[in-house]
Amino acid sequence: MKLNSCSVIIIHLFVLQCLSVVCLSQDFDFFYFVQQWPGAYCDTKRGCCYPTTGMPAGDFLIHGLWPNYNDGSYPSGCDHGASFDKSEISDLIPTLQKEWPTLACPSSDGFKFWANQWTKYGTCSKSELNERQYFEAAIALKGKANLLQALRDAGIKPNDHLYKMEEIRDAIKVAIGYTPGIECNVDEFGTSQLYLVYLCVDTSGSDFIECPLLPRAGCGSSIQFPKF
Ligand code: 5GP
Repeated sequence: MKLNSCSVIIIHLFVLQCLSVVCLSQDFDFFYFVQQWPGAYCDTKRGCCYPTTGMPAGDFLIHGLWPNYNDGSYPSGCDHGASFDKSEISDLIPTLQKEWPTLACPSSDGFKFWANQWTKYGTCSKSELNERQYFEAAIALKGKANLLQALRDAGIKPNDHLYKMEEIRDAIKVAIGYTPGIECNVDEFGTSQLYLVYLCVDTSGSDFIECPLLPRAGCGSSIQFPKF
């Protein structure tokens, strides 16, 4: 059978389309959107340093948006050639400084933390979100999940008191609509405290979903909600 040039072009286009679907299809199953409670990050033997832009607000802060697989494993550092490009997010910096500041020592302006999160995690969701979209998605998710308000509405406040894990989990589920993962750390006396809250997000980075898998918690049945 002889193919005319028009058929050849159509076949070429078909092959190209198939390749683009294979190459651009998402290569992770969901995101963990992780927020940290600054009171718990700071209340450890290691301590913390406020960012050069000043003490963060007494609110949960973004830790990261992490692509994950349904089996609990996750991709990491997916683009060795890619570096973090500050200019892509220059207009987002004031918002990032407020919502995604670093508490690590020594004090810094946050760029190292954002670059670390982009190269370690963000590069693994590039099929869905480029660098700018990755940071925008995290900021938008933070706006949709007011954890402090959710907890306050249930009478749970950062006052160094102990609260039951179920109370904390339920309060967030009632307000956000999805069960969160809670991770604890310990203060210098070994008291378990509310440190990270994980919410699951679909691969587009825009909608919360029920978690395919909750992260391991490391919490006791009652945990402290430290002051900040
Ligand atoms: P990850 O847990 O996201 O894999 O790694 C976090 C990295 O970011 C660590 O190297 C940690 O030192 C650094 N980092 C910088 N600022 C912060 C912060 O405010 N909170 C946390 N948890 N890690 C931070």
